[in-house]
Amino acid sequence: MMMNSKHTMPPVLVSACLLGNPCRYNGTGYDLPVLVDSLREFTVIPVCPEVLGELPVPRPPAELVGGDGRDLWQGKAVVQTEDGADLTAEFKAGARRTLELGKKYGAKMAILKEHSPSCGSLRIHDGSFGGRLVPGMGVTSALLKSNGITVFSEKNWLKARGKGMCPANIDG
Ligand code: SF4
Repeated sequence: MMMNSKHTMPPVLVSACLLGNPCRYNGTGYDLPVLVDSLREFTVIPVCPEVLGELPVPRPPAELVGGDGRDLWQGKAVVQTEDGADLTAEFKAGARRTLELGKKYGAKMAILKEHSPSCGSLRIHDGSFGGRLVPGMGVTSALLKSNGITVFSEKNWLKARGKGMCPANIDG
């Protein structure tokens, strides 16, 4: 789904669940009219890295274990379900496909759902499945950032827009 298609509107990758798509692990999405409204001047490229990695909806929750997304790309961390199923390959595949889409449309920015093992950019779950958060990035956020795409959490995006700041100049 492309919400706007004018070439003059800057392209931005956006977590599909933030746009209401029911692609979360539990088959739900978020209802965030304020966020949708903030995107009127942008060409929105909805992405769900986990679905792009061919994981089903619904699916068991997964967390990064042994480090964050940056560590995973260095072979030092993995993504697992609580039962210990290794989903590292699927998460990497989804991140790579998200990056391909970003490159295809020339996106320099992404607004990704905070706390997700794919999309988080500031804090993620600590791998214990106990609901605890630690500083760190998800798998897709780490790949996008290392390829020059600025990643915002949804809150930081709205904060930047509310202040009238140019989002492209802010590292969210
Ligand atoms: S946080 Fe990212 S991976 Fe998770 S459902 Fe939303 S778009 Fe998909």
